[in-house]
Amino acid sequence: MTQTFSDRLKNVNPDFLSFSSLKTLQVNLGNLCNMACAHCHVSASPAGEKKMVREVAEKIVAVLRQNPGIVLDLTGGCPELNPQFRYLVEATESLSLCRIVRSNLTVVTEPGMEWLVEFYRQHKLVVFGSLPCYSAENVEKQRGSGVFERSITALKKLNSLGYGSELELNLVYNPGGPFLPGSQRDLEAAYRKELAENFGIRFSNLFTITNAPIGRFRDFLEQKGVYEKYLALLADRFNPETAGAIMCRSMVSVDWQGYLYNCDFNQVLGLPVKGRDGRDLTIDQLAEAVRTGSRLELGQHCYCCTAGEGSSCTGSLAA
Ligand code: SF4
Ligand code: SF4
Repeated sequence: MTQTFSDRLKNVNPDFLSFSSLKTLQVNLGNLCNMACAHCHVSASPAGEKKMVREVAEKIVAVLRQNPGIVLDLTGGCPELNPQFRYLVEATESLSLCRIVRSNLTVVTEPGMEWLVEFYRQHKLVVFGSLPCYSAENVEKQRGSGVFERSITALKKLNSLGYGSELELNLVYNPGGPFLPGSQRDLEAAYRKELAENFGIRFSNLFTITNAPIGRFRDFLEQKGVYEKYLALLADRFNPETAGAIMCRSMVSVDWQGYLYNCDFNQVLGLPVKGRDGRDLTIDQLAEAVRTGSRLELGQHCYCCTAGEGSSCTGSLAA
């Protein structure tokens, strides 16, 4: 039987079971998206009904004001489609040294979103754009027909405003099936060559992310009858060198209603951060959630963060 993830981590170092210090606040604005990708772990789509409201967004701004210097990482769904997106960016202008927007790229090409790339630039957002391959065929298998061409259009637009040169544009790769990403360094070199030669596109970094066995990706694994096999692969490839760097030791994730989680994956699984008395903590209790030594909510899905080179929202952990 597979050892529990917690035990595996504890064997490397018992400190790794606990929160260390807050470096990043990741904010999930909800599950509304202009796409409905086959691998989506948050099962987002144009029908997504979970949407952050102003009251929660205001609390996030207040947290940034009290904690200057932490990274603000905006995600979804498609964060740009949420009415609070503009407010969150404008109200945190001088409160965070680094603000990330996780963009699916195609949103830039949606009617009515023509303002978006200039808005990114004006507010110096760091753009993380999803592009699971440099080949049209692989991207469209995962994300739908026409998506590759629209992503290339978006990347060219970003490049034309200085993204990929003076402004940071990072691409995000995730595997198209039940396997681990290859070497981040090698993939980055291949992306750089292919995108430059075929489309004249430049970018800052490529980050590889391992698919978590949850949400729509879990459905896909179960339909193929390989869910258990994939979990076993993640556990077999446990890499102790990545164990201390799991992102939940320095990041807190907030959902559209203001509840706190150790990461986006735990959000999907309904595993909130708990207070000492067992209640679910919200953004109002952030200080309690990020106390050094607070226990992380870990499960078998966590093996996706420590397999191979390891995986986090900013790519591999051991590259
Ligand atoms: S993977 Fe990203 S772009 Fe695709 S449906 Fe999910 S949130 Fe939207
Ligand atoms: S899945 Fe989340 S809680 Fe588990 S190790 Fe990864 S970041 Fe931490």
